Amino acid sequence: MTTLTTRPGAAVPSPSPTPRRATHRRAKAWRAAAITVIWATSLFVVALWVAGGGVVAVLGLNAETVTTFGRLTGLVAANLLLFQVLLMARVPLFERGFGRDGITRLHRFVGFWSFWLMGAHIALLAVGYAMAAGINPLAQLWSFIWEYPGMLLATAGTLLILLGVVTSIRRARRRLRYESWHLLHLYAYLGVGLALPHQLWTGADFLSSPIATAYWWSIWALAAGSVLLFRIGMPVLRSSRQALRVAGVEPDGARAITIRVAGRNLPSLGAKAGQFFVWRFLDGPGWTRGHPFSLSAAPGRELTLTARVVGDGTRGLTALVPGTRVIVEGPTGR
Ligand SMILES: Cc1cc2nc3c(=O)[nH]c(=O)nc-3n(C[C@H](O)[C@H](O)[C@H](O)COP(=O)(O)OP(=O)(O)OC[C@H]3O[C@@H](n4cnc5c(N)ncnc54)[C@H](O)[C@@H]3O)c2cc1C
Repeated sequence: MTTLTTRPGAAVPSPSPTPRRATHRRAKAWRAAAITVIWATSLFVVALWVAGGGVVAVLGLNAETVTTFGRLTGLVAANLLLFQVLLMARVPLFERGFGRDGITRLHRFVGFWSFWLMGAHIALLAVGYAMAAGINPLAQLWSFIWEYPGMLLATAGTLLILLGVVTSIRRARRRLRYESWHLLHLYAYLGVGLALPHQLWTGADFLSSPIATAYWWSIWALAAGSVLLFRIGMPVLRSSRQALRVAGVEPDGARAITIRVAGRNLPSLGAKAGQFFVWRFLDGPGWTRGHPFSLSAAPGRELTLTARVVGDGTRGLTALVPGTRVIVEGPTGR
């Protein structure tokens, strides 16, 4: 029998670089696919606008030029707003393509552009219609809100989105408790749901061709379906199928706690050390508020997390008792 020994001080052979390279290549492929989807759909929306006579209308250099740009900015903003929802819906394509940090950065970037394009859409349409009617743009805006179908809802939605954007500015966010900020951010998603349906009633581009109608309905359904499937359906289903329960709770120093979670067939979760889950412990009121914690030990027959006690949520973890049911979202992160 041969025994492998390592001389003291000798360099420990590093593991083969091949698996790491393969993982890197896969991550790059996912990223390329995710970026392609975002660009392709944005360009498709612009193509729909061109096919609907957008370029011709712009060339007239009159009120319709302004209105047509207003329609274009509205279409791209609507597409990006739906991607804002898709990015946060834990869709595997984006999770694998960008990773959680990348998604957070992209969410800020797409949020910035969708918000300003939405603002441009409102302003350009108000000015364009006002020029055609020979009235004040503010009077035109007022008439949009009160006289056009779906616009009252769109106005409420826009205000909710504005609230979400303002409270996400770093300085404002620092002043808010995480929970308050998160709740306001959820209202911004409600805002997206309220702001976009006016496309159905007033958006010529939505109904300009069967392809346009099919595209918009599909991406709407995809966004709503992804939230229901990946944020609610799958975590609940997997957690209950795997019967996740707290197996042990142990203090870890003075200000931290280690929790072990056991369940059936945990390897099927595909979790790796260093990834994180969003955890919900079903121990009473407040369980709906999920908290992200990384795995603090390589997953095997149990999942282990170690939480520093910093606020109400983590303080509540110290009172957890073995047997408490657990719902997890994830694993996430690379
Ligand atoms: C990807 C990720 C992995 C993490 N892994 C660990 C870990 O392994 N161990 C650990 O001790 N901590 C980890 N954290 C931080 C941990 O999630 C927060 O400390 C915890 O949620 C605080 O909750 P609280 O109610 O006790 O504190 P609060 O007083 O409510 O919040 C304290 C701070 O934690 C942050 N926070 C609160 N809730 C959330 C939330 N749901 N999502 C994101 N941030 C939040 C806020 O920035 C807040 O300022 C991780 C955070 C992230 C984003």
